[in-house]
Amino acid sequence: MSGQPARGGFPFTAVVGMDELRLALVLNAVSPAVGGVLVRGEKGTAKSTMVRALAAVLPDVDVVAGCRFSCDPADPDPDCPDGPHEPARGEVGGAARSRAARLVELPVGASEDRLLGALDIERALTEGVKAYEPGLLAAAHRGVLYVDEVNLLHDHLVDLLLDAAALGVSYVERDGVSVRHAARFLLVGTMNPEEGELRPQLLGVWLLFALSTGAGWWLIHTWPTLVGLVASPEMVRHVEHGELWTDGILNVTPSSLLSMRIFTNNIVVTIFACVAGIFYGLGTFYVIANNGLMLGGVFAFTKEHGLDGDLLKFIFAHGTVELSMICLGGAAGVALGESLIRPRLASRRDSLQQCTVKITRLFAALIPLLIICGLIEGFVSPDTAIGWPVRLVIGLANLALMYAVLSGRLFRSAAAA
Ligand SMILES: [Zn+2]
Repeated sequence: MSGQPARGGFPFTAVVGMDELRLALVLNAVSPAVGGVLVRGEKGTAKSTMVRALAAVLPDVDVVAGCRFSCDPADPDPDCPDGPHEPARGEVGGAARSRAARLVELPVGASEDRLLGALDIERALTEGVKAYEPGLLAAAHRGVLYVDEVNLLHDHLVDLLLDAAALGVSYVERDGVSVRHAARFLLVGTMNPEEGELRPQLLGVWLLFALSTGAGWWLIHTWPTLVGLVASPEMVRHVEHGELWTDGILNVTPSSLLSMRIFTNNIVVTIFACVAGIFYGLGTFYVIANNGLMLGGVFAFTKEHGLDGDLLKFIFAHGTVELSMICLGGAAGVALGESLIRPRLASRRDSLQQCTVKITRLFAALIPLLIICGLIEGFVSPDTAIGWPVRLVIGLANLALMYAVLSGRLFRSAAAA
């Protein structure tokens, strides 16, 4: 804090209106025993800017030259894997050197090897020695370890991180390598309360879906002969005979088989809506718009034949959640595309990896919901003996279940430090 200019980035004192965060960071910097800072805030609140700026105002540290574990020359770690070091400073021809305090960022998609360190394969192969390559915990010793969006970090990594932070030591047992080294760092994590919910993307996808449903309705309403674009010949034949294609389906296919076929199909469509996003989001737009056009078109066609009420009755119990799932898959796909177009981490690869972690968790919740939809669509929806009240109750209960699962009320996947 000797008036040195900030090393790149924004000066610590220049961020306005974040006094509590500034105080928390300074307190931790002065006394690391405080135990770290968890910064909660929405996107664009300069959380990361503040943390990066903090590293720039930390005093320089003296380290033993050549020690990859940043030993203090005045008090070297007796267990240092690069040791033992000469205890006295300055005597052995400048064995100590001074460097800036480090800010080490732990990417959300990092592996255990990257955090703890691993066997140095290159040296193992070329020199035939078991050498240990230090990880991010070693790099962060006597500096700042920064985890952006710590709530998305894998639980297993959170445990390792908290263990090291609490003990000040990292133990590594790897492929015949057994190492312990000091790991005392200022732990700073950020989390965005909205992260993982895909709100902006979901809104966009719903809008696209609604617009394309309207367009499909208008298209078939205006030119009924185009119905072949949105419905199969078999569907068209049924409706022209004054019945839904689902009528009597239970006489042909048992509910269990029907359910299985339906949920398999829905899971495929939802995953496709998401994975197609890898083409910078364009594939997702296609899948969602296509589904909307078909839904709107089919409704317009059944209305011509006075069957739209029956179709709504058929769809209601399973369809509300099913379409929500497909839109959510689409929102995840858009997020995937975004992570490539506008990577928020240092590299596209890290951004994509972080996004994939998020999406994997989402799908863990989506797939059971889609199976429930499939069961409803196989057992309840085609059964003409079941009336509107039961369908209404099932449809709304299903929506409530979806809301509970996705808002994290039924289970929590986020682990915050
Ligand atoms: Zn050392």
